[in-house]
Amino acid sequence: MSVPVFTIPANKLVQLGLHISDTIHYQLSPEELTRQTLRRKEGVLNDTGALVILTGEFTGRSPKDRFIVKDEISAGSVHWNDFNQAIDESCFDRILDTMTRYLNELPEIWVRDCYVCADPRYRLNIRVVNELPAMNLFAYNMFLRPTDNELEHFHPDWHILSAPCLRLDAALCGTRQSNAVVVSFRHKLILAIGTGYTGEMKKSIFSILNFLLPRDKNVLSMHCSANRGPKGDTAIFFGLSGTGKTTLSADPARRLIGDDEHGWTPDNIFNFEGGCYAKCINLKEEKEPQIYQAIRPGALVENVRFFPGTDRINFEDGSITENTRVSYPLSYIGNALEPSVGPVPKNIFFLTCDAYGVLPPISRLTPEQAMYQFISGYTAKVAGTETGITEPKSTFSACFGAPFLPLHPGRYAELLGKKIREQGVKVWLVNTGWSGGPYGKGNRMSLTYTRSMISAALEGILDNVEYTPHPVFGMAMPKTCPGVPSNLLDPRGTWPDPAAYDEMAGRLADWFTTNFEKYAKGVAPEVLQAAPRKQA
Ligand code: ATP
Ligand code: MN
Repeated sequence: MSVPVFTIPANKLVQLGLHISDTIHYQLSPEELTRQTLRRKEGVLNDTGALVILTGEFTGRSPKDRFIVKDEISAGSVHWNDFNQAIDESCFDRILDTMTRYLNELPEIWVRDCYVCADPRYRLNIRVVNELPAMNLFAYNMFLRPTDNELEHFHPDWHILSAPCLRLDAALCGTRQSNAVVVSFRHKLILAIGTGYTGEMKKSIFSILNFLLPRDKNVLSMHCSANRGPKGDTAIFFGLSGTGKTTLSADPARRLIGDDEHGWTPDNIFNFEGGCYAKCINLKEEKEPQIYQAIRPGALVENVRFFPGTDRINFEDGSITENTRVSYPLSYIGNALEPSVGPVPKNIFFLTCDAYGVLPPISRLTPEQAMYQFISGYTAKVAGTETGITEPKSTFSACFGAPFLPLHPGRYAELLGKKIREQGVKVWLVNTGWSGGPYGKGNRMSLTYTRSMISAALEGILDNVEYTPHPVFGMAMPKTCPGVPSNLLDPRGTWPDPAAYDEMAGRLADWFTTNFEKYAKGVAPEVLQAAPRKQA
């Protein structure tokens, strides 16, 4: 097979201050990037031919080191908070200068042209410049891949410059420490420094789309997965990290649209990305066959360990991090839709991993309850996912994605609320977390049961069953669901001690109420009515 030879996009790189030499690797194939990573001893192959790397000091995102440059575009429109931290233009200039000088001194760099947004009306061209070939492979896997013809006329809208081995002088550059991810809307530039965690690249692009699409195009951007049923109906699954977006959207009975980031326009939904970034911890072929089988040549696996003396991945081993990951192109999931676009959703699932065992495993929400839950964005972190967490800890993350939302959460909530009401979308809350007691006493809901509940909702079976309202949270709990023991459907009955359940439900209700105080002023009275009510 002949390999197409692409010319190096010299002019644009020069504009960025980069010198052009023959050590720029442009648009290499996954095979070539894999070979180069092996040659540089930056990775190894596992027994199924995937490239396995270590990402170094960072094995997850570092939200405290993410900055947005305060300029004439961002100053008045970004909702400045702990996630959207401002940095001065003068600091940005210094960081960019450090970055370009550093990249120019490297013996080799990797450049890739790609794009995001599967709906051509919203397409954004991205040029990624990497210090490491494996990170360029991540860009190939995760972003959309232009055709040879499209490459001929490629003009990048945005650039990502990534230098994991560079360290910043924090005092000089105005950063917290020597690593940082810096986003400039004026320069249309993302600088990722001192971190080898590939996910920073994808989530910084997500963040800029969360700014540009709702603000300029009236498109709702969403932290959700999406798939399409045999009758053509779309379902979307919102949820914070670890709640099941990737796992539950990979469904042999439905075609995958995307696993993490989508836009909702007046006439469709579309995937931002061209790949999946799945968790590998405790991955089992029987439970998640599609993800398991995607680990093959071209896939990039991060921070796993092998069984000693072998090249077989021990998926149970979380000793480097619980956040072990694999990236692969969407086409590695056999039934992925191409292009990844679908009709507007008929069903929305809010996924929450409730480690307190309070929320029902599936329930139906009124539009007002949906808005209340969406703005709250509740889930729980459990031990292991973050250092220092030994007990479950509740977290509320507005719109199920606060770290990635540059605008005020109210903007996204308003767009979603309007769509749910106007289009009569059904909204479900699914607890993929604990049942029968809190973390440590109860058990995590079985994936098989969660899948059965979601299928029953999607097939309309839950439209014709009896419901009972949750006494504190108000959502409607089905009394029966095919394939699921009925006694699991009402969480109170799964606890050995119902009084302990009531107490826990009351505590969770208080946390919801306290968290909601900061939004209470800006929401309609009906939404406030959907708040949990503690029993006397
Ligand atoms: P991220 O935003 O970080 O990509 P995600 O929402 O895509 O997170 P998943 O990668 O789907 O989260 O992770 C869910 C994890 O929980 C998987 O490892 C899955 O095997 C496990 N799990 C266990 N029980 C369930 C359940 N009942 N439903 C869903 N996932 C479950
Ligand atoms: Mn995911």
